Amino acid sequence: MDFLDEKLTSYVETHTKPESGLLQQLNRETWAKVLMPRMLSGHLQGRVLSMFCKMIQPDRILEIGTYTGYSALCMAEGLTPDGKLYTIDINEELEEIVQRYLKQSPYREKIITLTGNATSIIPGLNETFDLVFIDADKENYSNYYDLVFEKVKHGGYIIADNVLWSGNVLKKKSEMDEETQAIDSFNKKVINDNRVENVLFPVRDGLMVIRKI
Ligand code: SAH
Ligand code: CA
Repeated sequence: MDFLDEKLTSYVETHTKPESGLLQQLNRETWAKVLMPRMLSGHLQGRVLSMFCKMIQPDRILEIGTYTGYSALCMAEGLTPDGKLYTIDINEELEEIVQRYLKQSPYREKIITLTGNATSIIPGLNETFDLVFIDADKENYSNYYDLVFEKVKHGGYIIADNVLWSGNVLKKKSEMDEETQAIDSFNKKVINDNRVENVLFPVRDGLMVIRKI
C-alpha cells in the first residue's frame, strides 16, 4: 500500500536520483522471477537507505533479511573504505541471485552473506555494529531488537522496515493478525525504551529509525 497518492509518489520518485543500472536490473529480475517481489526495498527506499548510510558512514552493518540483496547493495554504498556488511537470510533458494549480483557490484568484498535462521546466527556474531537493519519475519522484530541491542555501539542505529504494515497497525488489537500485533508491540517497545531516541519515518511502509544513546 502507498500512503501517498499515485501522482505524489511519482513526483517524489522523479525528484529522487535514480538507482544504478545494476540495482535497476536486480529490481526488474526480482519482479520477473522471484516470489513476493513487493518485499524488495525498491527505488525510493533504496535511495533513503543509501543516503542514511552516507550520513552515518558505518564501519559495520548488520542486515536481517537479505531477500535478493537489493537493500544490502544500497546500504553498502555508505560503508567506510574498510567497512563490512553482514546480511542474513534463511532462504537458500535466494543465494544464486544474490551471489550473481554481488559479483557484479563494487561492494562484493565488503558484503558477507550468512544463510540460516537469524535468531541462531546473531548470537554468534563477534562484531559491534554502527547500524542494524531489521527486515525479516515480523513476528521476531522484538526478538531481533533484544538480540542485537548489546552489539550496537552507543550512538549507533537500528532501522526497522515495514513498521506501518500497510496501515494495519491502526486496527483494534482484537482484529490484528499475529504479524501486525508483533509490529505494533515492537513500535511500543521502542517508544518506551529510554535507552534510545527514535523517529518513525512514514517512508513507503514505515521506517523506524532508532538511535542508541
Ligand atoms: N531487505 C530486503 C527485503 C527482505 S524480505 C530488501 O529490502 O530488498 C524478508 C526476508 O527475510 C526474506 O528473504 C526471508 O527469507 C527472510 N527471513 C524470514 N525469516 C527469517 C529468519 N528467521 N531468519 C533469517 N531470514 C529470514
Ligand atoms: Ca521490507
